[in-house]
Amino acid sequence: MRQRVVLALGGNAILQPGQEGTFENQKANIEVSAESISKIIKAGHELVIVHGNGPQVGQILRQNELAKEEVPVQPLPICSAESQGFIGYMLQESLKNRLPEKNVATVLTMTEVDLADKAFNNPTKPIGSFYTEEESNQLAEEKGWVMGEDAGRGYRRLVASPEPKGIVEVNVIKTMLENDIVVVSTGGGGIPVARNEKGNLEGVAAVIDKDSSALRLSQDVESDVLMILTDVPNVYINYGKPDQEKLETISIEKAEQYYGEGHFSDGSMGPKMAACIEFAKLGKTAIICSLTEAVEALEGNAGTRIVG
Ligand code: ADP
Ligand code: MG
Repeated sequence: MRQRVVLALGGNAILQPGQEGTFENQKANIEVSAESISKIIKAGHELVIVHGNGPQVGQILRQNELAKEEVPVQPLPICSAESQGFIGYMLQESLKNRLPEKNVATVLTMTEVDLADKAFNNPTKPIGSFYTEEESNQLAEEKGWVMGEDAGRGYRRLVASPEPKGIVEVNVIKTMLENDIVVVSTGGGGIPVARNEKGNLEGVAAVIDKDSSALRLSQDVESDVLMILTDVPNVYINYGKPDQEKLETISIEKAEQYYGEGHFSDGSMGPKMAACIEFAKLGKTAIICSLTEAVEALEGNAGTRIVG
């Protein structure tokens, strides 16, 4: 049966931890990702691909920082758009080579956030270069940046991570799906925009969790499945402990119980499980699995499934 699938690619789909962010490394990882994704498309499903952009947008920010005497520095929403563009291109090329008969296109996607979101009162996400304490104080004064110490490695700019309220291009994405186009969208969680005093959309310095945005998108395009592809084959309870246990098919109630018991770490599995639980509440199936087992997981033969 043809299903509409929103698939979120984890960071490792583009760059593995510890790898240098060269074009060649990223392209090699994307080839592996495209191989797995193309099996879902060949199986006849409608597909929207969401991806992370942490290391990539970090690299663009760093380039801006290093070249600032020569080239005007661009704000964060522009860097976010740039990363969506080049990651989208790499995915399009790798997918098109495997599926010459298919139309594949990237939509630069804005994700609307609310300036009243409480996340803006307490920015927590470090972005861009590391600075000394002195530089950090100067930047806070000159640019009004919120700065914070990052795990003993130096000072960095901190930005908010607000909740995604809506995907601005949702109707474009739906139209593309209805016309059998494979869509890459909402990369890096989307370019964060908010309504200003005049009621117009305007880019904001923030980062949006890609798993939360993938949930928002799957709700808005009314997908049948939300799939989150990451670097572990399953979700586990007691993860990393001798008594760790693989989860295969679980109910919303079980998932919420384990969530409440703290089995899923805040910055990694936590947001994925939170997104999957919300999606399952629509009476649908959410899947977390490894990048290479996507089609098997969609058929019910791999990964962790939360069923509503
Ligand atoms: P991505 O880049 O795919 O979003 P993350 O690093 O954010 O990946 O999340 C995946 C990681 O979550 C895994 O590599 C694993 O170390 C971690 N993790 C934390 N808790 C769990 C759990 N209960 N079960 C499986 N993985 C977990
Ligand atoms: Mg990661």
